[in-house]
Amino acid sequence: MLYLSTRGHPDRKHFCDILLEGLAPDGGLYLPEHYPQIDGAFLTRLRKAYHDQGYAELAFQILSLYIDDIPAADLKALCAKTYTAEVFGTGEIVPLRHLEEGLWLEALSNGPTLAFKDMAMQLLGNLFEYELKRRGEQLNILGATSGDTGSAAEYAMRGKEGVRVFMTSPHGRMSAFQQAQMFSLQDENIHNIAIEGVFDDCQDIVKAVSNDLEFKRKYKIGTVNSINWARLLAQVVYYFAGYVQATETNDQKVSFTVPSGNFGNICAGHVARSMGLPIARLVVATNENDVLDEFFRTGVYRVRGSADTHETSSPSMDISKASNFERFVFDLLGRNGQRTKALFSAALQTYGRFDLSADPLFADAAAKYGFESGKSTHADRLATIRDTYNRFGVTIDTHTADGVKVAREHRGDPAVPMIVLETALPIKFAETIQEALGHAPERPARFAGIEALPKRVQVMPADVQLVKAYIERHCQ
Ligand SMILES: *Cc1c(COP(=O)(O)O)cnc(C)c1O
Repeated sequence: MLYLSTRGHPDRKHFCDILLEGLAPDGGLYLPEHYPQIDGAFLTRLRKAYHDQGYAELAFQILSLYIDDIPAADLKALCAKTYTAEVFGTGEIVPLRHLEEGLWLEALSNGPTLAFKDMAMQLLGNLFEYELKRRGEQLNILGATSGDTGSAAEYAMRGKEGVRVFMTSPHGRMSAFQQAQMFSLQDENIHNIAIEGVFDDCQDIVKAVSNDLEFKRKYKIGTVNSINWARLLAQVVYYFAGYVQATETNDQKVSFTVPSGNFGNICAGHVARSMGLPIARLVVATNENDVLDEFFRTGVYRVRGSADTHETSSPSMDISKASNFERFVFDLLGRNGQRTKALFSAALQTYGRFDLSADPLFADAAAKYGFESGKSTHADRLATIRDTYNRFGVTIDTHTADGVKVAREHRGDPAVPMIVLETALPIKFAETIQEALGHAPERPARFAGIEALPKRVQVMPADVQLVKAYIERHCQ
């Protein structure tokens, strides 16, 4: 299997070459040359693999279709090491829970940081360690986080050989729980840098350091952001796991509703569907930051600046430029790299928008690819959290609430189960749960009292030179 760029670059690469890279050289995103097609017999084998041998075996079978430069025995061992009941809390890894007539929740948030990003990041940590060792190389991951991504990256990379993490975050602006999660890590290869500023200051610092190409090369600076193909591929697996749990035979279909921000999670659903997994519809749920909902309703993709990005109570979806969206548009345009490039590098740069409403291909987004969309607001979140608690005794987090609200509006054919992906646990967003229910959410036992643990963090002014000097000092 070889990988190409969504912007038409002629190079083709193997999996491990793009694993450690970010964007393709022309600024595009990597995708496989084609999506491997599964037939009924293979799906039956996958069903059996999940039920008899577990999630790790299912992951191995699917990843094998996309990775031809890691020996099978090694890949199997990496999957087995990643997807364990110890790390993910249950043997099923992503158990399905029935909520109401036709509606199910797929739990993706029982990993170390209680958000679905662990599903991919834990595998990425093991893949990075494996590949860096094989090459005799090192990598220093530099990132900016306002919460979920940074902690998932740190928990995935802690103690890994050949990898260091330098994670910037806005000083004093994350919740006490999120700070405790990250800063209590005592691993030597994990560095928390709290910047006296806001999230944008952290991001500017990361950009400035990455644009200093000499520094970047000398200190082997890399990233783990959501455009990484390996993260997306790891997410494809749980669409299969959801399907085989919700169905008994391969002629049944299911639909998924996905709380979305950067379009990474639901793009993995698009890949699974393109492989032939019987998915009827893929429903994009957004919060007040509704760029994606607007596109699927109107054909106009209009990115917003940070001034027009709302701070909401589902903060991991406060995104106004969906970094993985280009992958879907490339497929929608019949994999035309030149057109994709014109839209994403020319039109978006110049006008901040593009318009496919008059293009007959836009109708394919729903008709051929199954996409629908909807949006949810703070009031909807509160009502959905309250209603789900009162009727079923189940507490859901704010992002999952956006998903449940939109899923209820898109249920469709009662014979087709609608699966909502649960993207975080409520304890991460305790304030809003308190507002909705009048009491705090339950805290998993392993997180009891983490706010009191010793913290390992360096506070710094928002100054690129100081961050560079810190990295230099800790790369000896
Ligand atoms: C990252 C995140 C999302 C959004 O996922 P995308 O892949 O960016 O669309 C939704 N919910 C939670 C809790 C997240 O951490």
